[in-house]
Amino acid sequence: MLDLARPELLSLAPYIPGDYEPDCLRLNANESPWRAPGDATQRGLNRYPPPRPEVITRHLSAYYGVGETELLVTRGSSEAIDVLIRGFCAAGRDKVLICPPTFDMYRLYAEIQGAGVCRVPLERNADPERDFALDVGEIRRRIDAGAKLIFICSPNNPTGGAMASADIEAICAAADGRSLVVIDEAYQEFSGQPSLQDLRAKFAHVVFLRTLSKFVSLAGVRCGAVIAQPAVIDYLTRVLPPYTFPTPSIELVGQAMEQSSLAVSEQRVETLRQQRDRMQAALGTQPGVLKVWPSDANFVLIQVADASQFVARVRRARILVRTFPNAPELSDCVRITIGRAEDNDRLLEATGA
Ligand code: PMP
Repeated sequence: MLDLARPELLSLAPYIPGDYEPDCLRLNANESPWRAPGDATQRGLNRYPPPRPEVITRHLSAYYGVGETELLVTRGSSEAIDVLIRGFCAAGRDKVLICPPTFDMYRLYAEIQGAGVCRVPLERNADPERDFALDVGEIRRRIDAGAKLIFICSPNNPTGGAMASADIEAICAAADGRSLVVIDEAYQEFSGQPSLQDLRAKFAHVVFLRTLSKFVSLAGVRCGAVIAQPAVIDYLTRVLPPYTFPTPSIELVGQAMEQSSLAVSEQRVETLRQQRDRMQAALGTQPGVLKVWPSDANFVLIQVADASQFVARVRRARILVRTFPNAPELSDCVRITIGRAEDNDRLLEATGA
């Protein structure tokens, strides 16, 4: 896999952090000796966090069922996307492949890095169950033309459905040794289909992205992870600078990953799944709603007769929903996040006859 890495980074000299030993007086890091007023953290915010949040690596690798050397903790999976692109794509030389409509941050980080963006749109089908599928034939052809990273979002944001596992497997097989296949499972916990993580046993060049922003209610903490072969993780660890993961986030993730907190999160995921089923059925009968796509995520995409009218209507009820001004194929579509039962009632009331 390291054949795909940027050669100039393979020999990058690492930053050597100062020692940290809890029972030693720390006069080696130019920190303040006092806690700030109101600092209730265990470690103390006057101290730098550890260079890598090892305790979070342990929690997440246990939760996702992978080895600690196979996981890198990042500030949200957004940072994971960034570090992958910076690590594998040299500006002006390499490119990524994306399948729009999809999460727009793949494009954003690629463009910031100066990497090319090759777009293979999802295939359309009149049947919502088969709509927005991966165009495996075209992706295969584009792999031949070269792309360092292939981003596949499953369940896909903003269309909501999981991609067919056979299609993803076919792409992994075609990419073997030539591209890293990055499977973004940000919404996996809401899906009826199992994670595709088992593909790691078959393919060395497959990478998974996970996040705590959705299912454990920690979007504000910014915690995500890359799961990949140890060689890839070791390489990304060189690209991601030390000290990026803040102390409050470390302590809050630690709490969220305790068994009792996870049980609450799992219960909430189940509630959202039930609410999603309810909303898919209910939205389909609302006036002006033309189509409701199946969803494996915590949101639903719908097609309406007039998106700006729909948005204005819910806005009058002080509700925000998402439209996609930069995606012409979604010009009349609206993405609605699933809320609590009372939130969903409110949306249905605002959009009803
Ligand atoms: N991937 C997908 C598909 C997303 O929708 C999002 C956030 N909306 C992310 C990654 C990034 O999430 P975070 O940085 O909060 O982990």
